[in-house]
Amino acid sequence: MANPNPVIVVIEDDPQMRRFLRTSLGTLKFQVYEADTGRQGLVEAGVRKPDIVVLDLGLPDMDGVEVVKALREWTMLPIIILSARSAEQHKVEALDAGADDYLTKPFGIGELLARIRVALRHSAVNPEHPADPVFTTGELKVDLLKRLVYVGDREVHLTPIEYRLLSTLVKYAGKVLTHRQLLKEVWGPAYVENSHYLRIYMSQLRQKLEPDPTRMKYLLTESGVGYRLKT
Ligand code: CA
Repeated sequence: MANPNPVIVVIEDDPQMRRFLRTSLGTLKFQVYEADTGRQGLVEAGVRKPDIVVLDLGLPDMDGVEVVKALREWTMLPIIILSARSAEQHKVEALDAGADDYLTKPFGIGELLARIRVALRHSAVNPEHPADPVFTTGELKVDLLKRLVYVGDREVHLTPIEYRLLSTLVKYAGKVLTHRQLLKEVWGPAYVENSHYLRIYMSQLRQKLEPDPTRMKYLLTESGVGYRLKT
């Protein structure tokens, strides 16, 4: 992590959840500031200049999705949303509105930390110009400079769309991308409703890259939300 003591603003109305986050993140040397309403959260985010915001979607005064939109009007800082299992559609809306990632309650602190690390890493680098043009996870290697893809020593030939889909996932490796975001990045804004394109190309990509078609190692499905490339 770039900053040894990252500043986190937690926007959450549930006192128990806030205590859990304060205690566990505080122990890990994060500076934690809390807000129990959306409005207060927006103020804290403006004042504290956090490195990251952790945002509950179900707030008493504002819809969490509105909080995401309000933040995105002036900042690109990473936002991780917390959602109840019943709020599936909501979660997708928040991600489409610009949230970076999500966790479904209940979750462990290890999971949250992993998401925070990915989000901080992405905010520290310019995704258009990654420091390392060669991405590796397990046996999968993607050379973004030469546009070459390998599984182990074997070079894999992808169609232009398959490659664009994979390189988009690589650009945001570790982060969840919604169906809409992927459709927009790979096919363009006019295609965000054409989720069958994504299904077809994802399945082709998996056939070419995944060693075991029954157990995905790299191209992970985020059920009802989208996909995530394992890092
Ligand atoms: Ca809540």
